[in-house]
Amino acid sequence: MCEKTQAETLKEELFYSPEHASYLCDDGETEAADAFCEKYKDFLNTCKTERETTAFVKALAEKEGFVPFDPKASYKAGDKVYSEIRSKALILCVFGRKGLENGAKIVASHIDSPRLDLKPNPLYEDTELALFKTHYYGGIKKYQWTAIPLSLHGVIFRKDGTKVEVCLGEDDGDPKFVVTDLLPHLDKKQASKPLEEAILGENLNILVGSRPFAKDKCSEAVKLNIMKLLNEKYGIVEADFLSAELEMVPAFKAVDIGFDRSMIGAYGHDDKVCAYPSVMAAFAAKSPEYTGVTVITDKEETGSDGNTGLNSAYLKHFIADIAATQGLKGRDVLRASECLSADVNAGFDPTYPSVHDKLNAAYINKGIVVTKYTGSRGKGGTNDANAEYVAKIHRLFNDGKVAWQTGELGKVDEGGGGTVAKYIANLGVEVVDVGVPVLSMHAPFEVVAKYDVYMAFKGFKAFLEQ
Ligand code: MN
Ligand code: MN
Repeated sequence: MCEKTQAETLKEELFYSPEHASYLCDDGETEAADAFCEKYKDFLNTCKTERETTAFVKALAEKEGFVPFDPKASYKAGDKVYSEIRSKALILCVFGRKGLENGAKIVASHIDSPRLDLKPNPLYEDTELALFKTHYYGGIKKYQWTAIPLSLHGVIFRKDGTKVEVCLGEDDGDPKFVVTDLLPHLDKKQASKPLEEAILGENLNILVGSRPFAKDKCSEAVKLNIMKLLNEKYGIVEADFLSAELEMVPAFKAVDIGFDRSMIGAYGHDDKVCAYPSVMAAFAAKSPEYTGVTVITDKEETGSDGNTGLNSAYLKHFIADIAATQGLKGRDVLRASECLSADVNAGFDPTYPSVHDKLNAAYINKGIVVTKYTGSRGKGGTNDANAEYVAKIHRLFNDGKVAWQTGELGKVDEGGGGTVAKYIANLGVEVVDVGVPVLSMHAPFEVVAKYDVYMAFKGFKAFLEQ
């Protein structure tokens, strides 16, 4: 080995220069990261929607000994409880050795992802094709959602109040669905439009059938045939769509990317790539000193509004309820609490370098991203984390040998975005954004690096175990 020059040694001491996570890993950690990611891929394939994720994590948590939270019960260190929020969000809580007057350690991520929701009255027929009307959910680049296989997920409540669960297009042999697009031979007008106008939201119609009800001729015979099939399979009539939540999502499975299998391509990394590691960390954190609260929330992609999003009172009320079990006020617990707002950040893409400030961008494989602020136009609409707290989190990650880096969501005035951090900050909790860098964020098929997924797990575990 060649000796380091004085300049090299000094640079190492004085410069901030995050490295590829592989250089930080101990023996066996690469294998551990790969093994962790195999489970994560299974999770992605099972949990495409917030409802599916909530049900899956709840079942896992019950196996891990979590029981429904009872506000009238009293709890001791190590007790594990959960609270389910309207089938779309979940809070896991492990009581710590210290009382809640010392605050809770909260990790909050989201389990909703961009997609195409069916409109309340979706089914129609045009030129003997049956189609569904959709209204997109979250920030999408609409052209990316045409000509890819889609699957249908969700719930329908029939007029008698009974529930039907739908998941079609995921199993081999299942039919799938698609938004059609123009052929290049005839797209002269479309191709000359700006990207965001080329495909209109109102045109994201989904092809669902083409054979008529054949017994006797009538108008809308293709639509009738589809309704008949749906009636046979799900026991529904058209009016039942009005009380349904049906979501079209990419039918892809999570797969390895690259000759070296170092990355994962999948739908819904944002933000299941933080949700899954946070849940695994909640399970793995043994006998923590502080009470750990792991939240997987809904509605982040549409701004956190609605009673299953973090701009509602459900987290505040839960903290007040656990505080009450120790004779404390919720606000005193919140004031002493700390949170990692666990959400993805944009990974630097060498094909599109101009949108990033290289000094402050996040890079895939350099570990978990600590994002001091998000927002747009002069830090509008963001929690800008307090320096004291950011330093504390850096220290925690350094001590835990967690590869981490800083990150900003693009160049100044290039665009921007937000997370749930500001809603948690509104409760008076110390909070900073932390998460995994993603390539092609919000595309139907996003890419993350396996090291970063594993570092998210290590980071959340270190936070919950402190
Ligand atoms: Mn997100
Ligand atoms: Mn997002």
